[in-house]
Amino acid sequence: MTYPSVKLNDGRAIPQLGFGVWQVENDIAEKVVGIALDDGYRHIDTAKIYGNEEGVGKAIAASSVDRDEIWLTTKVWNDDQGYDRAIEAFNESLARLGVESVDLLLIHWVSAHRGLYLETWKALIELQKQGKAKSIGVSNFPEEHLREIIDATGVTPAVNQIELHPYFNQAELRKVNDELGIKTEAWSPLGQGGEVLKDPVITEIAETHSATSAQVIIAWHLANGIIVFPKSVTEERIASNFKALELKLSPEEIEKINGLTREDGRIGADPATAD
Ligand code: NAD
Repeated sequence: MTYPSVKLNDGRAIPQLGFGVWQVENDIAEKVVGIALDDGYRHIDTAKIYGNEEGVGKAIAASSVDRDEIWLTTKVWNDDQGYDRAIEAFNESLARLGVESVDLLLIHWVSAHRGLYLETWKALIELQKQGKAKSIGVSNFPEEHLREIIDATGVTPAVNQIELHPYFNQAELRKVNDELGIKTEAWSPLGQGGEVLKDPVITEIAETHSATSAQVIIAWHLANGIIVFPKSVTEERIASNFKALELKLSPEEIEKINGLTREDGRIGADPATAD
């Protein structure tokens, strides 16, 4: 089994399959991140707003896996946007995580109505210069705002982390990301464990491969070049989701799953209007 990585525009390589911890309490996060690292995951996606940076940091500190083998991502929350505030908030994140630097720091949402995303992006550029955030990127940024921060600073985000699953495959924004040299990360890659896991197209493909629906969807993301970090707090699912790395879908199967996308497939907030 190979563990694929994706080359970012700053030259660094991010492990393509990670582990997400949204809606996981601190003590549970400590436990499940430990399990994920034991299973072989080398990429953890957290955020200040998840309230579990301490738990994630404790699991990393306690793990037999070296810190420099683990890709750690966190995010600047909307309330912390602005140049000084973002720097201060990120230093607090580092303290909670108990690390000297993170591998990737993202602006969590564009939150355009605040008018602070450009200043916040400048803060991330400074934090990268200081070596505290080795790579920097954004999350929930529409095309217009991507172009604006790139034009204003000359620095292109390494990634744009967006809602992406078979019912909302974001073909257009992915194309924009590609054109700009930004890698796409998928949030809620399993559609938050909802009906997509029971879709007949998915379950049929799963049956053909003696795989789970979750493995099929994760394998689809990987085949499309997307960076993906499914979440689970169930030991068996954490392990089986990682084994999606062993599953290779045929071009026909990938096309069938590409065809499941829906106009109204979005589960979360629309970044164009979200807070
Ligand atoms: P997800 O799509 O990863 O789904 C997780 C849910 O799917 C689980 O709670 C469980 O109910 C189910 N599940 C997981 N494995 C399964 C399996 N093998 N079989 C059956 N059901 C299974 O949802 P998510 O947590 O929203 O997204 C993943 C990560 O993306 C988050 O943890 C977080 O790190 C990130 N995220 C980022 C943003 C953002 O705004 N940037 C928003 C949401 C999530």
